[in-house]
Amino acid sequence: MAPTAEDIRAIRDNVRALCKDFPDTYWREIDKKEAYPDDFVKALTDSGYLAALIPEEYGGSGLGITEAGVILEEINHSGGASGACHAQMYTMGTLLRHGTEEQKKLYLPQIAQGKLRLQTFAVTEPNAGSETTKIETRAERKGDKYIVNGTKIFISRAKQSDLMLLLARTTPYADVKDKTAGISVFVVDMRHLKGNLQIRPLDMMVNHHTTSMFFEDVEIPASSLIGEEGKGFRYIIDGWNAERILVASEAIGDGHWFVERASSYASERVVFGKPIGTNQGVQFPIAKAYANIEAADLMRFDAASKFDRKEKCGAEANMAKYLATEASWEAANACMNTYGGYSFARDYDVERKFRETRLLSIAPVNNNLILAFVGQNVLKMPKSY
Ligand SMILES: Cc1cc2nc3c(=O)[nH]c(=O)nc-3n(C[C@H](O)[C@H](O)[C@H](O)COP(=O)(O)OP(=O)(O)OC[C@H]3O[C@@H](n4cnc5c(N)ncnc54)[C@H](O)[C@@H]3O)c2cc1C
Repeated sequence: MAPTAEDIRAIRDNVRALCKDFPDTYWREIDKKEAYPDDFVKALTDSGYLAALIPEEYGGSGLGITEAGVILEEINHSGGASGACHAQMYTMGTLLRHGTEEQKKLYLPQIAQGKLRLQTFAVTEPNAGSETTKIETRAERKGDKYIVNGTKIFISRAKQSDLMLLLARTTPYADVKDKTAGISVFVVDMRHLKGNLQIRPLDMMVNHHTTSMFFEDVEIPASSLIGEEGKGFRYIIDGWNAERILVASEAIGDGHWFVERASSYASERVVFGKPIGTNQGVQFPIAKAYANIEAADLMRFDAASKFDRKEKCGAEANMAKYLATEASWEAANACMNTYGGYSFARDYDVERKFRETRLLSIAPVNNNLILAFVGQNVLKMPKSY
């Protein structure tokens, strides 16, 4: 059943109240130390909100993508970084739709209780990038196991997670007629692995605990396979609309944070004898960004409600991701300009949020590929790939 306005309001109020215990100083310290926000993730798990997308029969809250988006939005709106735990929501659809009953019973209740973390989604590779079908990591079936060899790059939270969703080729690219075939997806328990898996932290602009992963004859049980062998690319695509709606929601939360901070600072900071916000050069960029965030928000809710009604929503989900991430970036720049030199001072949190929101137009998918989807699939123009 679709959530009512009252349901959404209650979620917003509860998540806001929870986030009050994790103020700017908490996130600033986490960011400076490049630490993982364990306390925050625990609080979100205990509240049931991190398990929003896990059905009630497996111990979750059984909510839809609309509510999940509002939860992530409110975390970012509060000044926090939902990136620390959003992967669990991004990956949930693949496990729910295509996992076996045994896999769901084994993992979902423990994830919902916070006993297991599913915060790693290993797709990107050095030689594949946005062209996912070109991944080279191989998973070869040997009896009741798969032997995994290959390299992944930019994989977030591999050291902070127990479980990983892994995308690997079970048939090499050269041996398939359809380039999307021969890719499989696995739910891997990283606590019990044989073979050599090296996880090397990367020095990145944002605190995402991003790593390179090197698999050398890593053994995973055949029971880790999700769905049918060779169909993994389709399963991942099924989850893309949800991911785009969630990213849009995070960006909208960031956007509102920037606009609120910028408008309040612009009203208080006095230069040349009057608040800087009286100057249209300061005021209008903030107002423009706000208008764009509100427009993106409408598209996000349209996409989310279609998704929850199981209607087609590829166009809306992609456009929401594009509009929201562009608007949050616009708001970030307006906020930086409003704070002037102070925006560079870490104590104001603007530079941290600026770095964090910039990521959303590039990862998990860059906005050029979003525009390619709209150009090619919605407007039926020729394909670039
Ligand atoms: C902090 C961080 C965390 C990440 N976490 C994860 C993770 O947990 N798991 C994971 O699997 N990946 C993760 N990634 C990887 C991320 O998803 C990729 O970086 C992203 O998908 C883009 O791939 P790429 O960097 O290889 O860019 P490339 O594919 O090399 O593309 C570079 C640029 O070229 C342009 N471009 C490419 N192809 C086209 C085209 N056909 N048309 C127009 N323009 C094009 C785009 O603008 C793109 O930004 C993370 C990345 C970062 C930075």
